[in-house]
Amino acid sequence: MQLKTILNRVQKFKSFVYKSVRWTGSQESPELEVEIVERSNGKPVCSGCGCRRPGYDRRPERRFEFVPLWGIKVFLVYAPRRVDCPDCGVRVELMPWAIGKRPLTKAYGWFLAGWAKRLSWKEVAEVFRTSWESVFRSVEMAVEWGRAHQDLKGVQAIGIDEIAWKKGHRYLTLVYQIDSHCKRLLWIGEARKAKTLLRFFRWFGAQRSQELKYVCSDMWKPYLKVIARKAAQAVHVLDRFHIMAHFSKALDEVRAGEVKELKAKGYEPVLTKTRWLLLRRPENLSDKQESKLAELLQYNLRSVRAYLLKEEFQFFWNYVSPWWAGQFLDKWSTKTMRSKIEPMKKVARMLRGHRTLLLNWFHAKGQLSSGVVEGFNTKVKLTSRKSFGFRTFRGAEIALYHALGALPEPELTHRFC
Ligand SMILES: [Zn+2]
Repeated sequence: MQLKTILNRVQKFKSFVYKSVRWTGSQESPELEVEIVERSNGKPVCSGCGCRRPGYDRRPERRFEFVPLWGIKVFLVYAPRRVDCPDCGVRVELMPWAIGKRPLTKAYGWFLAGWAKRLSWKEVAEVFRTSWESVFRSVEMAVEWGRAHQDLKGVQAIGIDEIAWKKGHRYLTLVYQIDSHCKRLLWIGEARKAKTLLRFFRWFGAQRSQELKYVCSDMWKPYLKVIARKAAQAVHVLDRFHIMAHFSKALDEVRAGEVKELKAKGYEPVLTKTRWLLLRRPENLSDKQESKLAELLQYNLRSVRAYLLKEEFQFFWNYVSPWWAGQFLDKWSTKTMRSKIEPMKKVARMLRGHRTLLLNWFHAKGQLSSGVVEGFNTKVKLTSRKSFGFRTFRGAEIALYHALGALPEPELTHRFC
């Protein structure tokens, strides 16, 4: 059987034929070149408008990298024609295997993009002896295609999250669909300003925004304002994950201040290495950690009192009735305001200030699962680590859409991976 027979089976083009196959490259890294020619009766297609146009001239041969065979690099070789198009002028013809001006074939692009879901981009480049740039371009192509073809019908619940990236205070705004039937990353924006989220709503469209039933977010003011304006009909829920993150931050602050204070007074370092004891839920501690926590709780420390206030607040989420949850919230806030622990008082003031939105959690109960936004947050951090932190916004965007966007792929006659 000839290589051409296999090629015709996995990837056949209507207006082109495979001609000769030849060896090139060196002894150590052999390559195969597959020559492509147009069918004699076919007029070239303009890459601008997609219409058949008269030929103008022919450009020099170009090589397009194809899926490797048994560790041998494979290239399609073709000398593209230019068309004389009355609408677009003189243009290079449309080549169905090519991705714009890139030196990769679509098949190879989808192949690399497929592997880039399983491995880091660097690993993909190493395994297939190609450049990081090629992998990036392939994923970019897959993301562009997927974003252009994704179905945005029926989105009822969205979650808004932000993550810090790069050094300093730089953020990305992420919007997820968190419906029970479909969970995916919908949109990414640079920064976390009101303007950023407004851009999401512009992209999402007024019609779809009006059809949203639930919006989940942090207490970040610019977001709150935009949500109230753009999706006023939706039940706006402050999600548990973000609220508990504020507690962790406050607890960290209390503990750090107290450690310093105790040290200055020359007390024994009871608080060293207790950070995780205080931040984790008790049920997630090991036996050893648990006994250490029990010991720590005997001290009348601000950190301990703050910890107990945090743990007490966890009961809030178990309520069913919004009214009783509200009663609990009020009692807890009053108690905390008397605690003289400033970072905790700040949390209490913040929660009181957002009482209505906070209680919306109970109105939406059963409709939203609290873990979704948190789960995505973890995955985003994981993706970032796999790409060695995102160096550019474009890189971050492409990597995250590819990993979390649940983007569609075209139907191919043959799947190479
Ligand atoms: Zn044209």
